[in-house]
Amino acid sequence: MEFSKRVLISECEQHIGKEVILKGWVKKIRQLGKVGFLLLRDRTGTVQCVLEQEQNQLKIETESVVRVTGVLVKTDKTANGVELQVNELIVLAEADPLPFEINKKKVNAGLDHLLNHRVLSLRHEQINAIFTVQSMFVKGFAEFLTKEGFTRIFTPKIVSQGAEGGANVFTFNYFDKNAYLAQSPQFYKQMMVGAGFERVFEIAPVYRAEEHNSSRHLNEYTSLDVEMGFIENVEEVMEMEKQVLQYTFDYVKEHCQKQLDILKVEIPVINDIPQMTLAEAQQLLKKKYQKDSPEGDLNTEGEKCIGNYIKEKYGSDFVFITNYPRTTRPMYTMPNKENPVLTDSFDLLYKGSEITSGGQRIHRQAELIASFKEKGLNPDEFKAYIDSFAYAIPPHGGFGIGLERIIMKFLNLGNIREASAFPRDCDRIIP
Ligand code: ATP
Repeated sequence: MEFSKRVLISECEQHIGKEVILKGWVKKIRQLGKVGFLLLRDRTGTVQCVLEQEQNQLKIETESVVRVTGVLVKTDKTANGVELQVNELIVLAEADPLPFEINKKKVNAGLDHLLNHRVLSLRHEQINAIFTVQSMFVKGFAEFLTKEGFTRIFTPKIVSQGAEGGANVFTFNYFDKNAYLAQSPQFYKQMMVGAGFERVFEIAPVYRAEEHNSSRHLNEYTSLDVEMGFIENVEEVMEMEKQVLQYTFDYVKEHCQKQLDILKVEIPVINDIPQMTLAEAQQLLKKKYQKDSPEGDLNTEGEKCIGNYIKEKYGSDFVFITNYPRTTRPMYTMPNKENPVLTDSFDLLYKGSEITSGGQRIHRQAELIASFKEKGLNPDEFKAYIDSFAYAIPPHGGFGIGLERIIMKFLNLGNIREASAFPRDCDRIIP
């Protein structure tokens, strides 16, 4: 079958003087005397198309999908120096009148309205840019880890136990049993380290049955999970996280400068990431900001203050908070050798908000069983996980980054829902 090849708008300059086929959405149409101007948009950009009187009679709604055939000519009247003299215009799919104007610099509609009409709102240049950045962020992340000898893994999301032992999990009927939606790939990524891969990562959805509708929590989010074996200490895990973030942000800069300009953001400079123990952070909050912290943790307000303090003192957007107590960390976390009340764990804050939890894990089976019991958990219920330690798993550790959370902070978005194409929260499961 014969078909004519479509030219992308970004390629138009290479085809000046030739007849080409362009396909895209009608961004704008305006009439100037007998001539009509149609601004056509595809995934690579926009181009002006000049319509003769006859085609001009066509009534086309903005955002309709069209196929335009014409000759590309040079002009000094448009930003990209070309325009298309249209010979034929076919409407491939007609748009209904729009619920809000999307071809303005800023969309004038509330977040709910934008999310309800997501396929339309995602076409807006600024909103679209968020997801191009997100896509490249994930690509850079995967590329770095692959270069460093990590294997990408895919673990089940239908599980028989929550990784943290019960809280915040969605339960559902799985034939004649109860099953859960995975809260984290924690157990499986550790098992894959032990399965001989040594270094693994996963990029996949996780599910949290959090009942609060906050601006930084979703009920389904994408977790960037890393786990590495044969480590000497937790510092190695933190170093790996620093390096993957450096690479990933540089990768985004290299591939998404146009989008970063549209969004008016710059990539963070990551040199040495300052560190602070949780006890030091809590003390600082008390002394300098007169703020109390929850037992063994920081609250949102505390994270914000520490973020500001670190930015002022060290010029860094990032800070590692280390040595959380055993009481507030999961049962698989490695106790600290010098002070076993504490753990070899960390959170990473970015612009005053937690984006990561990580740490070294217990790798000897007997210690793991003891830790489960200390936490009041029945090891028998976690048998498959615990059994996998019988055949020796190397010392290991890792971390998880919430993709939408880090993108939200990076792009200075006011709400995590803006970093999810189709967010899931307590009220929203459509679209
Ligand atoms: P938070 O204190 O922010 O509720 P958490 O301590 O429950 O997070 P972890 O279980 O440690 O989170 O998850 C690791 C990372 O996953 C977090 O640092 C964050 O980036 C992301 N994350 C956790 N819960 C959510 C959520 N409900 N929505 C979006 N991202 C989340």
